[in-house]
Order: sequence, then structure tokens, then C-alpha cells
Amino acid sequence: MPGVRVRFAPSPTGSLHVGGARTALFNWLFARGQGGRFILRIEDTDRERSSPEMMEDILGALQWLGLDWDEGPFLQSERLERYRQAADRLLSANKAYRCFCSTAELAAKRQAASASGKPWKYDGTCLGLPPDRSREKHARGLPSVVRFKGTRDGEVVFEDRIFGRIAHRTEQIEDFVLVRSDGMPTYHLGVVLDDLDMKISHVIRGADHISNTPKQILLYQALERPVPVFAHLPLILGPDRTRLSKRHGATAVTTYRDQGYLPTPFCNFLALLGWSPKTEVETLSTDELIHQFSLRGVNKSNAVFDLEKLSWFNSRYLRNAPAARLLPLIRAELEREGIWKEELGSSSRAWMMTVVDLLKQRVRMVSDFASQGRAFFTDDFEIEDKARRKFLKSDALQVLMPELAARLGSLPAFGLEETESALRAFAAEKEVKAGLLINAARALLTGKAVAPGIFEVMVALGQKRTVTRLSDTSWMEDEPRAGE
Ligand code: GLU
Repeated sequence: MPGVRVRFAPSPTGSLHVGGARTALFNWLFARGQGGRFILRIEDTDRERSSPEMMEDILGALQWLGLDWDEGPFLQSERLERYRQAADRLLSANKAYRCFCSTAELAAKRQAASASGKPWKYDGTCLGLPPDRSREKHARGLPSVVRFKGTRDGEVVFEDRIFGRIAHRTEQIEDFVLVRSDGMPTYHLGVVLDDLDMKISHVIRGADHISNTPKQILLYQALERPVPVFAHLPLILGPDRTRLSKRHGATAVTTYRDQGYLPTPFCNFLALLGWSPKTEVETLSTDELIHQFSLRGVNKSNAVFDLEKLSWFNSRYLRNAPAARLLPLIRAELEREGIWKEELGSSSRAWMMTVVDLLKQRVRMVSDFASQGRAFFTDDFEIEDKARRKFLKSDALQVLMPELAARLGSLPAFGLEETESALRAFAAEKEVKAGLLINAARALLTGKAVAPGIFEVMVALGQKRTVTRLSDTSWMEDEPRAGE
């Protein structure tokens, strides 16, 4: 579609929320799929609540997700003059007026209305003020806001790309504020002027903005400019079907990044919050998302944020990723844990790849490589209590394991078949179940109750480390903890 220009316009009053990230992603996918432009705008006119740190957080999160922008970031705080000029033009054209009602007066009226059970909207007290009187009050320095002058007997109608036709009677729309008493533009004025100046063709944003759209359309009309296409995205709910919030757990994208989720599965997961691909396949690469995404595929019904599903996407991604792609991430994780050694790098890259391929079958997060897989990367690991209790409780093992170690140590070749037949032959000879030895070997070799296939573990560790660990009897001295 020629001329597609979309934007993501976060307010830097908090970290990038998953809902915001979903909005950014849909805009980005739409722009990339349509050969359009993706513009980043920072809506920072709320001076008190905005902060440069939050802006950095947002930019960092977008970069992490891979949502690169073609223009911007434009800061609203750098465009204040533009908004002032536009407000002045609307005032001179009699499409806006100054309102001198004080906050206290308005609060009292609002309270009275609510006490009598009536909805409140600005009652137009200052609407009737003759222009010269208004100018005179303003010149005297009396505080005022600029309000949009609405019409009373019409209808604002728009065709939302997702929600369909939406109509509002103009009499329900109050004369909303365009410029605050401190001279700062309100969200409505800023957003409309920016979307016009930045030639935005499609406004794709959360459904929480639907009620703002009629006001903004009135403003486009007052400015005699064409209205962009609107597409409002369904809300994201927590598992209890209330709006996703901190009560449901982490909502900041950077928290997920820091917990070890990866950007590709995270985007895949976000994409399905409110959008359905045409096929049944749910795991999609970023290119596939770009290719398949359409506003037609966006649902009206609210989406539910399901952490289990996110973990599923993450583990699926890890399982299917080539080991080489994961190596740098795993290295960073091992470094963080202080178990990275240079020799794990270049000299034994092939070995690392084998271990990564083995471990990636069961991990959910990159950090699991260092925790579940610790025993592969260092000899300094502990046998977890669960493994000890379940698999090392038989007294017979105290004799059997060192003997098994000796048997494995004498093997001339140390492959999957050799290790397996040696263990099974040994079990038969000793008249014990192979499972007893396998489970005990798992505990001693990996420290875990759950691990990859034991013969693969042995081969990956190599003959020497396998034999050393199985013959080491120090585990027998460790008393089980009280109460266990
Ligand atoms: N700054 C607004 C927000 O963070 C975005 C408004 C819009 O997209 O029109 O919700």
C-alpha cells in the first residue's frame, strides 16, 4: 500500500508495558509488510510524570524486540511552539475559546452533578464570553485553558478497521481542553497535530483510546484536514479477565528481557495477543509475522496474557534454534554465573554445540543452560536434594557405582552404544535393574533428577569426567537433611 506511515507514540511515564509493546509490534509489522514507514514519537508533555530514564527504557525495549524505527524519536516537548500556533489559529477562527473557570469551580460542579447522579461534562460557562472580554481577561493575566468549541447537533462517525462503524452524538462530547493553563498542549491537540505533521496514514493503537477518537476527529475537521484510518487493538487481560496490570505479574518488557526470554519468541507471543494467523501454525519467525500480518486478522475480542504460553514459545524457540545462534547468549549466562572458562569457547566449540543441542531440548530460558546444565560446564556443582533422595538412597549403590565407574573406565571406545551395553551388562551381572544405575548415574553426573538421556550425558562429559564422578564416593558421607 503506497504511503503507509504509522507511528508508535508512547508516553515516557513508565517502562514499556507489554500492551505498548504489542501496539508497537502491530504498527511495525504493518509498516514492514506494506513497505511503509514506522515512526517513533515520544509523548512527553506531561512534564511531571515523564522522565528521560523511562524514555531510555522504552527505546531499549524496542531495540531489544527488534522493532527498528524509520523516523524519530520525535519528542513532543520539542514541538511546543507548533501546538501553540495551532491553538492560536483555532482561537482566531472561533473554533476554540478560552475558559477561565477555576479548577475548584469545575470540581464543585462535577461533584454536584455526581451527587444528583448526572454525568458531568463542561457546561460551557465561558463559551458565551464575548471575544473582546475574553481577550481582556487573558491580557490581564488571568489563568485560562483553551477549549475546543464543539458542535451540538451532529454525529461523528468513523469506520474502525477492527471494530467497524463507531458513531457518537456530538452533544455527548464535551468542549475538551486543548491547551492547559501552563501553556502545555493536551494529549488530544498534540496527537492530532503530530499525526498530521508526520503524515500518519493509519493510527493503530489500543482500544482504550477508542473514546478519544471522536474528539480527535472533530479536531481534524476543525483544522480542515483529512482524517487518518483508525484501527484499535483489543485490550490485553490477565488470566482473571481483568485488564492486565502489575497484579498479574511483570508488565514491563525489560523485566521479561532480564528474566531471559528472547526477543523472537516474545514477539511471536505478543503477535498472537489479538491477532490470528491464517494457518494453524503458531510458531512464526519475524519474517513470517511480517508476511502474514494484516489488520483484517486482528480480533475484536480481548486477548488474554498467558505466561505459560510465553514460556512455551520461549522453549520452542530454544529447542529449534541452531546451537551456534544460542552460543553467545549461553556464554553471557555462564559468565554471569562465573562458570565460563575460555577453553569452553573456541577450542572446544564443537563440544559446546553438542552440549547445547543436548540441553536445549528441555530448557525454557537461556538461564536454564547455566542452572540445569551447570555440571556440563564445571565440576563445581551440587547434587540437588531431590535427586539424592530419589536416586541415591539404596545402600547397594555405594559399592555398585565405583565398580560401574571402573567398568566404564576400561572401555576402549566411549560412544552411546558402548556405554549403554556396558551399563546393561553390569546390571545383569549384578542382578539389579538398569534403571537403578541409570538414575544414580544421572544424579552423580548432572546433580539433577531430570536430565538428558544418560548415555548422551556420559558421552558429552567424556570418559574421564564420567569415571571420576561415578567413582567419587564423597556423596555417601553427606547426611540427608533433617526431616527428609
Ligand atoms: N501516548 C499515548 C499512550 O501512551 C498514545 C496515544 C496514541 O497512540 O494516540 O497511550
